[in-house]
Amino acid sequence: MLTDRYPYFFDRVHAEREAVAASFRAEGSIRDRVRALSAAGLFAPTDVRGLAVSRWHLAHADALTDLAFIIQELGTFPLVSAGGYADVVEEARAGRSVVAFGLTEPEAGSDVRALTTRAVRDGDGYRLTGVKHFISNAPDADRATIFARLDTGSPQDGIACFLVENPPATPQKVAGHSIGRFDLVDTPARLVSTKGLGLAFATLERCRPSVGLAAMGMARRALDETLRHVATRRQFGAPLSAMPVVQARIADMALELEAGTLTALHACWRRDTAGKGERTGYESAVGKVTATEAAQRVIDSAVQLHGGLGVEEDSVVQQLYRDIRPLRIYEGATDVLKTVIAARWLEGS
Ligand SMILES: Cc1cc2nc3c(=O)[nH]c(=O)nc-3n(C[C@H](O)[C@H](O)[C@H](O)COP(=O)(O)OP(=O)(O)OC[C@H]3O[C@@H](n4cnc5c(N)ncnc54)[C@H](O)[C@@H]3O)c2cc1C
Repeated sequence: MLTDRYPYFFDRVHAEREAVAASFRAEGSIRDRVRALSAAGLFAPTDVRGLAVSRWHLAHADALTDLAFIIQELGTFPLVSAGGYADVVEEARAGRSVVAFGLTEPEAGSDVRALTTRAVRDGDGYRLTGVKHFISNAPDADRATIFARLDTGSPQDGIACFLVENPPATPQKVAGHSIGRFDLVDTPARLVSTKGLGLAFATLERCRPSVGLAAMGMARRALDETLRHVATRRQFGAPLSAMPVVQARIADMALELEAGTLTALHACWRRDTAGKGERTGYESAVGKVTATEAAQRVIDSAVQLHGGLGVEEDSVVQQLYRDIRPLRIYEGATDVLKTVIAARWLEGS
């Protein structure tokens, strides 16, 4: 358990949450998983470390349940943060609705400031027109928080956050995910906040450190599978685990895990203990990049040590190999986060 191994990062509430997450299993649609997560109490309000310990175990067991968990947080956090819409948040926490987070557009990925979805006033509400794509859980979404430009006729129109009911979704094919696009055409929406960009960044800053722990959960699963395999698979008259080169690879996997877990946990702890208004973007970037890149290498080694079984379509390590990849892209691609890291060091030179 993370809370036993690294007690200095955690409180009793994290340990209680971790115990629930460690034994949690769900299957079926995103909606089924959201319902089950709620019934287990995993949508109770928590801090970044609470998200992190949950994600480690959920991702260790199954990446899709981890996504069902965290997307609900991404979708509702802008509402929680802005205040209001308590009924919507409550319904999501009770597992009665799926809420997606709609920021990315075909021409605005890493550069979210380039988004072009527009919102125009319509009576008491608004109407949105534009395209959002690569939106997790979109095919199941009852609602979505959507970021769009508030059309005031000024070239400096700001980005606001809106809430859309039953957003029109088309599934996109991304292996191991439930993803879709929203084609919004005069789609009715309610305003959440005119300070949309700040809300989007605050939501990502809260969730990003936990991506590292999800990655470490997957990597640890890969190591667990590998330890079982190398102990039983015999070649050249001995188990693979007796071979020094295999042992060196296992040690490298463990080192990646140790470093990635500590760095990502540090980022979570920094976020939770930061003073009001204090930014922790640097730690968050270091945690996410270190852990997700390490996880990719650990899982690659797991595939290698499984030999042909490692590339068999339904093998656990093959699924992990596929599931880990997007974590290095979403919520800040590695290369983009490296610009944040480099900027901090170059500032001092
Ligand atoms: C599985 C999955 C789930 C997702 N879920 C959601 C969701 O729920 N909601 C949502 O809004 N979005 C979601 N996204 C979208 C995700 O946030 C974007 O894919 C991500 O922000 C990158 O944008 P892009 O794909 O347009 O890549 P681009 O912005 O085109 O970047 C491509 C690559 O170019 C490089 N690059 C770009 N900019 C820079 C830079 N400044 N410096 C150095 N290198 C750079 C990086 O290598 C980057 O990976 C999801 C994506 C995936 C794959």
